[in-house]
Amino acid sequence: MALAAFPVAPGAAFDDAALAALDRDLAGDLITPGHPGYAAARRVWNGMVDRYPAAIAYCTGVADVVAGIAFAREHGLPLAVRGGGHSVGGASVCDGGLVLDLSPMKGVQVDPARRVARAEAGLLLGELDRATQEYGLAVPAGQVSHTGIAGLTLGGGTGWLMRTHGLTVDNVLAVELVTADGEFLRASETEHPELFWALRGGGGNFGVVTAFEYRLHPVGPLLLAGVILYPMEQAHEVLRFSRDFIATAPDEVNLVNVFLTVPPAPTFPAHLHGQQVLAVGVNYAGAIEDGERVLAPLRAFGAPAADMVGPMPYVALQSMIDAAAPHGLHYWEKAGVLRTIDDAAIATLIEEAKKATSPMSQAIVAWFGGAASRVPGDATAFAHRDVPAMFWIVATFPGGDPAPHAAWARDFAAALKPFGGDGVYVNTLGSEGSSRVREAYPAATYDRLVAAKNRYDPTNLFRLNQNIAPTVGR
Ligand SMILES: Cc1cc2nc3c(=O)[nH]c(=O)nc-3n(C[C@H](O)[C@H](O)[C@H](O)COP(=O)(O)OP(=O)(O)OC[C@H]3O[C@@H](n4cnc5c(N)ncnc54)[C@H](O)[C@@H]3O)c2cc1C
Repeated sequence: MALAAFPVAPGAAFDDAALAALDRDLAGDLITPGHPGYAAARRVWNGMVDRYPAAIAYCTGVADVVAGIAFAREHGLPLAVRGGGHSVGGASVCDGGLVLDLSPMKGVQVDPARRVARAEAGLLLGELDRATQEYGLAVPAGQVSHTGIAGLTLGGGTGWLMRTHGLTVDNVLAVELVTADGEFLRASETEHPELFWALRGGGGNFGVVTAFEYRLHPVGPLLLAGVILYPMEQAHEVLRFSRDFIATAPDEVNLVNVFLTVPPAPTFPAHLHGQQVLAVGVNYAGAIEDGERVLAPLRAFGAPAADMVGPMPYVALQSMIDAAAPHGLHYWEKAGVLRTIDDAAIATLIEEAKKATSPMSQAIVAWFGGAASRVPGDATAFAHRDVPAMFWIVATFPGGDPAPHAAWARDFAAALKPFGGDGVYVNTLGSEGSSRVREAYPAATYDRLVAAKNRYDPTNLFRLNQNIAPTVGR
């Protein structure tokens, strides 16, 4: 055995010969410590995450995924699965284990007549949008184009089209995956339907997804969208107005409120640089003229410091806030749901936002409703469809001591708890432990996820995720 060259997790065992055999089995690259690409290959989006896997296997297709799963199982190695690498807690990289990195798998086929896309699991949101917008179509997905489709879809998928066409999970028609025992399956309403249900909100617990089939919707290519910036003095009135406006707005309107410090970027008016503001991010996913009419009251409200709403390509909207979340900065996130958004909740949001410890940090209120809320609560494993809004407190800083930033996010979330309770969207969780994963699901949903886990991954091979622990087979 020649284990010394590799950081190997306790209990795992393999030798150079086994690794060489895996390397031969893979069509993609196998990167180990000592390889010139190792330092870059072990990094994920959150620069705070600093882990040393024993090996990183770049998968080019199903056969590579099957080989990687078999290797991890046979040698008792922790197995991390990486799509876009945006798990805030860094679940897609591990110490001393094997990382299956699906980023080479970027195939996408669009069938405009059936309005269906088949997308491989290594695609990023922007890459999928680019392919579908070629036909004026889109999959409802998230708001930052460098996020991976796989992790986002498996947890739920909220974004600029969710009130119009539902969450990403509401638009999944089928999932292709390799299970813990190396079997390739296709799950849909008619094939392994219980697995299909679990995959739409239950995260990476049930296998390694190799491709998704999505329903497409006509979107754009031009939409009315953008941000309106308000001075903090108007924040209370603007939040109240946003709440009342969205309550009766048509499904085409999608809205977020974001507390942020205006960065010194040429896209923002120079006199606002460095000032904390409340941004209203909005789009109208329909005809521009209808959008002008429907959004007029919102744009006429108060005395904005800047109105940057106008016609823009859908792909531009999808990358509009990319620059606010670059790779490599340090991030600490706390999130939850809001059920009561009264004056006290609004005052709390403003008071806590003002305490931000870094000018890069943001606090986001994403308004629900519309198509996403009309899907029955038990139709998919994604829960919390009945809430008016979710919040994300994203502490962002260049490095150094995370404690004050983490404390800001934690205290902010704690202050909001009386207005929302325990619920949380699973994809916004960091490394917060099993009790918090339970809170991401109603009890009946969680029990059903455990039953699916017992069936498809009874030994918990897929445990580096927001883990649904099996109750058999351990
Ligand atoms: C900047 C930023 C913006 C975001 N914006 C949104 C948003 O607008 N809407 C939203 O809903 N969420 C959003 N998120 C949260 C996002 O959905 C999650 O972080 C998601 O896990 C990212 O997926 P990924 O593939 O990039 O991440 P990864 O870190 O690669 O994967 C995360 C987890 O997903 C699982 N996984 C990944 N690939 C596979 C696979 N092929 N098979 C099985 N399991 C897999 C694994 O458990 C893995 O640990 C955002 C996150 C960030 C960092």
